[in-house]
Parts: sequence; structure tokens; C-alpha cells
Amino acid sequence: MAPLKLIYHPAYDLHLGAHVFPSQKYRLIYERLLREELAAPEDFLVPEPAADEDVLRVHTADWVRKLKTGTLSVGEVMKLEVPYSKEFVDAVWLAAGGSILAARQALRHGLAVNIGGGFHHAFPSHGEGFCAIHDVAVAIRRVQADGTARKVMVVDTDVHQGNGTAAIFSDDPNVFTLSIHQEHNYPEPKPPSTVDLHMPDGAGDAEYLGALSAALERGLNEFTPDLVFYLGGADPFHEDMLGGLALSLEGLARRDRLVFEETRKRAIPVAVTLAGGYARHLEDTIRIHVNTLLAARDVLRNALPQERRAGEA
Ligand SMILES: [Zn+2]
Repeated sequence: MAPLKLIYHPAYDLHLGAHVFPSQKYRLIYERLLREELAAPEDFLVPEPAADEDVLRVHTADWVRKLKTGTLSVGEVMKLEVPYSKEFVDAVWLAAGGSILAARQALRHGLAVNIGGGFHHAFPSHGEGFCAIHDVAVAIRRVQADGTARKVMVVDTDVHQGNGTAAIFSDDPNVFTLSIHQEHNYPEPKPPSTVDLHMPDGAGDAEYLGALSAALERGLNEFTPDLVFYLGGADPFHEDMLGGLALSLEGLARRDRLVFEETRKRAIPVAVTLAGGYARHLEDTIRIHVNTLLAARDVLRNALPQERRAGEA
């Protein structure tokens, strides 16, 4: 079987009902991978919820308490832009546990994908833009505490700037944050990442990939991270309802390959999370995310010819 580990839990669904965030996408991706035999049941790992101790490495005790006890103010719920529920809180704790597991698996095996997470708009003391806790930041702090990675690079390709990521790591020289996003879109303001690629409205494949490729290579060469966290947002797609870039399905797949190939070349482990995706047709969002997983699997296989031969023998 493929060495790529996929992390998924049936309770990843945020239970948002008729909401622009299609959080049933996690289940649909999982089902599609099995139905089309792109993955086998044994390729999946089931995460535990993140420990509160780990969430508290990033978030304030006050914010964690409000989430766990359902005591957010009306203003806090409005900023979060999702209705509060116990199921929602359980799902985001699980997503954070999934990103911790993805990071640990990536450090052991080179690549792992959390079929969830990427909640990059969460700040230490508040949530916004559908993001209550920052699973990627929690996972980074956890593996740093494990002592298995010190320098971590976040490569965020969601169409919306990773404002929570930028804020959380603004004073941390051990975390390099790279965000490529649409300039004229949420969030506003955009706290500075280590590198921000502010793309103009309507930017297409060539312009986007040219900018990402140059910044990614420079960042990897100069920072030499122990681990990369890749947020493979589906929302730079030209038919996205919340995005104003114009990438094609093919361009998004090339983006994924670029990230996986440049990191493999340098033998840097990569943990993947999905982040946003609001295509007019949900099927496109599913396809974009599935393509990310397939690119990860292909690059991992090609980079490990001996293991593959051993597996096939
Ligand atoms: Zn987004």
C-alpha cells in the first residue's frame, strides 16, 4: 500500500447546516478515496482530540474556557461566523489533534495529510472566519515541544491571507510564514507574514505559480526548515464563491506538485491540511482536495523507489 498516511475522523464535520463552509467535504473526500480505491482503509489514521494543554500552547485560557463552556459573547460568535455548538467545538479539537498527528507522521515518514484543519484565521484569544482554534499552530508548538522539529515553515496557499498564523508567529524566528493570497479580500487588516505574496484580483495559473515558486524556493533554501506545514486551500479556484483569483484545476494541481517536489528535493517532511474551499459546485472543491492528496502520494512514491520496490516484491 501507499506509504502516505491519511488522517481523518468522522466527527471532523463542523455541523454548520446550510452554511457557505461545506464541512461535509471531509467525509465526501474520505468516501471518494475509498470508493475510487485511491486509498485503502489501512491508509487512514484516526486522531484523538488535541489535549487542552497543547491548545493552550497557542490560545489563551480565557478563549479555551469560553469555547468549552459555550460562553462566547454575541460579538465573538459573529466574528467567528459560524453558529456555536458542542459538536463544532469537538470537531475543531479533533482537527487540531489531526494536525498534530499529521506533523508527527510527516516527521517519521516524510509526508502525511490531515483531511481537515488549516484553520489559519484563529488568533490566540479569539476566532474568526470560521476558525476557532489554530490547529496548525497547535501542532507546530507540539512538535517543537516533542523536540522533533525546531524550525517550521508554513506554506499557506488559501486564497485568504493567514492572518492568525502571521499574528501567532510574528516574533518567532523559528517559524517562517509564507502566505500567497488575494490582496483585495478578507482578512483586513493583514498582519505581516514572513513573506506575503499579495496577488491581484483575477491572477491566473502562470502569475500565481511564478510568484509561489520563486518565494518557496528562496524560503526553503534560506530558512532550511525541519518541517513544512502546507495549507492547500481549494479557494484560489476560478469558480470559488469567496475568492477572486482565477486558478484552473490544472494550475492548482501544479501548485501542489510544486510544493511537494521542492520539499522532497531537500528531504524536508511535509504535513498537509486542507483549509478553505467554496467552489460553486461542491464537486470541484472535493476534486481539488483529492488532487492534493494524489500529488502527495505520487511525489512520496517517486521519492522512495527502494521502499516501493520492497513493497511490491
Ligand atoms: Zn480561504
